[in-house]
This record gives sequence, structure tokens and C-alpha cells, in this order.
Amino acid sequence: MAVPKKKTSKSRRNMRRAHHHLKASSYVECSNCGEMKRPHHICAACGHYDGREVVATAAT
Ligand SMILES: [Zn+2]
Repeated sequence: MAVPKKKTSKSRRNMRRAHHHLKASSYVECSNCGEMKRPHHICAACGHYDGREVVATAAT
């Protein structure tokens, strides 16, 4: 097993972890109702995907 030669300092460790933040998830506008939705996902508000209704909703 490879063993580190030098102890990683708090500074080095924290510099490495500086990139560990979570990215904000992306959202696109639904082409049917205009609600914000995840790309490549069915719209939670109207149940539409790719220009047609794929999940029946109470509103429609
Ligand atoms: Zn929608």
C-alpha cells in the first residue's frame, strides 16, 4: 500500500476541499406550462414531456 511521505497540512487539506461544494442543480422552463423543471425530466406541474402529456394530472 502506498503511504504518504508527508503529513497533509490543514491548509493543503482545506485547499483540496475548497472544490467540494455542491453545484446548483440546473432548471429549464417547461415548454407547456412555463413551470421550472429539471432538464430531461417530466414536468412535475403538468406531466408533460417532449411536447405531450405522459403523466395524467388532476388539473387536465
Ligand atoms: Zn409543465
